[in-house]
Amino acid sequence: MTGKTIAILGGGFGGLAAAHALRSRLPVEHRVVLIERKRAFSMGLSNLWVMAGQRAHPKDGERTFAKLAGKGIEIVHESIREIDAARMTVRTDTQTMAADYLVIALGAELAPSAIPGFPEAAYNLYDSEGALALQGALRTFTGGKIVILMSRTPFKCPAAPYEAAFLIDASLRERAARERTQLSIYTIEPQPMPVAGPHIGEALRAMLTQRNIAYFPDHAALKIDTTRKRILFEIDEADFDLLIGVPPHVAPSVVRDAGLVDSTGWIPVDASTLKTRHPRVYAIGDIAAVKLKNGMFLPKAGIFAESEGRVVAENIAAEILGHTSAARFDGRGGCYLEVGNGKAAYGEGDFYALPSPRVTLEEPTGARMREKEQFEQSRLDAWL
Ligand SMILES: Cc1cc2nc3c(=O)[nH]c(=O)nc-3n(C[C@H](O)[C@H](O)[C@H](O)COP(=O)(O)OP(=O)(O)OC[C@H]3O[C@@H](n4cnc5c(N)ncnc54)[C@H](O)[C@@H]3O)c2cc1C
Repeated sequence: MTGKTIAILGGGFGGLAAAHALRSRLPVEHRVVLIERKRAFSMGLSNLWVMAGQRAHPKDGERTFAKLAGKGIEIVHESIREIDAARMTVRTDTQTMAADYLVIALGAELAPSAIPGFPEAAYNLYDSEGALALQGALRTFTGGKIVILMSRTPFKCPAAPYEAAFLIDASLRERAARERTQLSIYTIEPQPMPVAGPHIGEALRAMLTQRNIAYFPDHAALKIDTTRKRILFEIDEADFDLLIGVPPHVAPSVVRDAGLVDSTGWIPVDASTLKTRHPRVYAIGDIAAVKLKNGMFLPKAGIFAESEGRVVAENIAAEILGHTSAARFDGRGGCYLEVGNGKAAYGEGDFYALPSPRVTLEEPTGARMREKEQFEQSRLDAWL
């Protein structure tokens, strides 16, 4: 058997999970190549801890890719410039690589400029530098209007902006600044986490009400007036002293330019195998549009990217080794919803359930918060 090359594009949650699962299944004559432009990996959830000051700097949640080579995973630290899915080639800054299998795991790109005024006026919660700047702004905040804005769907980790609201609420209470602060959420969504169903939306709304966090659904931001510190929505306006934004998300331009996205703006895939319409080309994680039976899409979350990466790896390895594989992604996954004061709730779901996703949300506990911290640590230790 001649050696095959599997090129994994993107070394985030999905790419790292796929690379490790492939390496553990394939003999050394097969190359596992990970192409990633960043020198270090960190999880999005770290931004919340940086924002809240629990983590001093984004660097404290980072790990470099240095150990991968020793594990038999080749790492190419370059930007991907072109993907040719028909010819199975990838062009980076300095080379063009031919592959037998492509796993596209390039995630979602943030597009703050898509909302005029956003880059100048909003602290970008989804960017580690934005989270760090926000840490400073919150530390010196003594009262006024804080607005959390979810500008467009889809966005990664639909729970994260709600977690940010709970953490800010808790920290302002600790500093006795909560009474002088009006904390509001404006979102384009019709309810919190619509894909999780109305009961989860209601549970979250109750948690917001309990903490006196105002909630304005169905608000599509048109632009932000930076001078007057005002958000202009389709239907009304809102003032702020401190604006925390979740920017629009788009597929990375290299993926759009390759003609791989459909009308959703993301790569359509088979929900069980993550195959694209190109043979031996897979898309996993945030870049993939996984359509659910109720017409909605699987949320963009690391836990799904990771499971999808493992499934794809198992199937590619089986094909190369001439085995059969029953590995299928089942749409199940859970995540921790931090609420402040060292506690987190746990939401778990079967997103492939019929006729619509079945999701449960447990009460917050300290034990769940420790599990969330362990969630980060265990992946960093296993992968890097
Ligand atoms: C604030 C916040 C909190 C979150 N909390 C959670 C949580 O609690 N649980 C959870 O499961 N998920 C959480 N997420 C979501 C999670 O981070 C993403 O869903 C996950 O990272 C998606 O994995 P991925 O592999 O698809 O993409 P990514 O992890 O984003 O990886 C994509 C990689 O591709 C690289 N890349 C992109 N373009 C190029 C190019 N042209 N050339 C080379 N490399 C390129 C990028 O540098 C990146 O490393 C959170 C996200 C945020 C922002």
